[in-house]
This record gives sequence, C-alpha cells and structure tokens, in this order.
Amino acid sequence: MFVFFTISFVLVAYAVFIKFVYYRHSQLWPHALNKISTPLYTVGNSRFCPAQERSGALFPNSEDENPRETRALIVTAHPDDECMFFAPTVLRLVESRAAVCLLCLSTGNYNNQGLQRKKELLDSCAVLGIPANHVSIIDDKELPDDPAVQWSTALISSLILKHIQNYAISLVLTFDGRGVSGHANHIAIYKTLSHLASAGRIHEGCQIFSLHSISIIRKYLSILELPVSWLLPSDFCCIIGREDYKRAKKAMLCHRSQLLWFRRLYILFSRYMFVNTFQAITAETKNVKIY
Ligand SMILES: [Zn+2]
Repeated sequence: MFVFFTISFVLVAYAVFIKFVYYRHSQLWPHALNKISTPLYTVGNSRFCPAQERSGALFPNSEDENPRETRALIVTAHPDDECMFFAPTVLRLVESRAAVCLLCLSTGNYNNQGLQRKKELLDSCAVLGIPANHVSIIDDKELPDDPAVQWSTALISSLILKHIQNYAISLVLTFDGRGVSGHANHIAIYKTLSHLASAGRIHEGCQIFSLHSISIIRKYLSILELPVSWLLPSDFCCIIGREDYKRAKKAMLCHRSQLLWFRRLYILFSRYMFVNTFQAITAETKNVKIY
C-alpha cells in the first residue's frame, strides 16, 4: 500500500510539475537559444542558387538582404500532415524569420475530397504562417493518397530536387523511415530523400532532417512527454509554448473534412502538437535546438 501511494504521489507530482513549468513558465524556457544555430545558415551558395532562378523564386531578393537566412522546405504526403506532425517546427521556423515553404505531394483524395482538402491545407498554412504562394500541392495520378500504392521514387526525387534548386532551400524536413504513423506515402518520401542524400544529389549547403517516430505510449502523453524528448539525443528539436499550441490547434481545425472524434483526441493528447525531434539524414549538423 505504501509503495502504491508513493508511486501515485510521484506520478502526480511529475504531472503537476511539468504542467506548471509548461504553462506558467514557458516564457522562461531558454529563449536565449531561440534561434537556429549558425551551421544551418548555409544557403549562400551561388552554384546552388543562381541569381536568375532566385529572381522569380518564392523568396525574391531575400538572400541579398540577409545572406544567412534559412530557407526551409517541409515535404509532406497529405493535407493535414503539416499541422498534425510538423506544427511545432513550422511555428518555430516562422518565428525565427526563416522562409518556410511546403511541398505536399498529394491532394489527399483518398475519399474524393481532394478539392476541399487543398483549400483546407491553404487555410491551415495561413494559420501556421506559411503564405499561399509558398505552398505547392501536387496533383498527380502517380502520387495518390493511398497507402496501398507505391509512390514513384523518380517522380518524388524530381519534385523535391526542383524545389530545392528553384527556391534555394537550405533545410529540408520530412518523415523518418517509420513515417510517424506508419503510412506508406510518408515512408516513400523518407526513402527518396535518404536515397538522394546517399547518392550525393543534395548540395552540401542543404541539410535534411527526418522527424522521429516514437512509440504509441510516448506519442499520446501530451506535454508530459516533453522531458523525454529533451533528454533523448536528437539533431534538431522544436518545442512550442501555450500560445503556439493554440495556433497549431487552430490549424488542425482548418481540416474540417478530417475532424472525426479521434482527431479531436489527437489534438489534446499528441506530443507532436507540442514538440518535434529530428535526426539528420545528412549528418552535417548536430545538437541544433529551437526553444
Ligand atoms: Zn499523411
């Protein structure tokens, strides 16, 4: 009985402590480090980013104004991936004044809702701080929203490389080999980027990070999982506070066609609504953190 009460007390104290720190003192988390460390600012490379291409790119003249600006590309498979899995990262990058664009490789047409989901994606991106002209939604029969269909690696490679080159991307973020939810379309993107990196097709000025897939227990611990994410090693870490969580939630609610009961539970309990941890695919930079 004593052991039971002791364990219960420790668990309750842990929960109260984490909630107290997160909600009451989120502004005290190490904001001095609230920036991307220098190694990520690697975009200034004339070979990789020719001026004539930049002039018509998503981020015109930004290199001239700020040669150290990070230009991030989030590569997702479906509308809603951007807020369901990457919201903390997008919000932190936008807050850090990085130029962020999104490449979504399908319209999410699994239930013939592609048109509606494209509109929902643009609404969600607007909430997260990604303007519509930074969002590319691919509508290609070879890339259907269907886990039973093996996506074309050649086509994905072509699309990603085109974005990296045209928009002078210095940071690419996507899923890892388990795809967070295990969806085959997510995993196909990781495999493609991993292949591109190992084949030397990604310029050295561009870094690639894959989002850690974690166990289902950790996944639904909400903010109680934060200390675990913090303590375990990762190459890139983004944590958001209470106000940014509200924005992430608002972005999720933009995907009205997907708002089933379990999606509402996901908003409440998923750790991906609060924190993202990444592993470098091209292990060039270690211990990069954004708070
Ligand atoms: Zn997805």
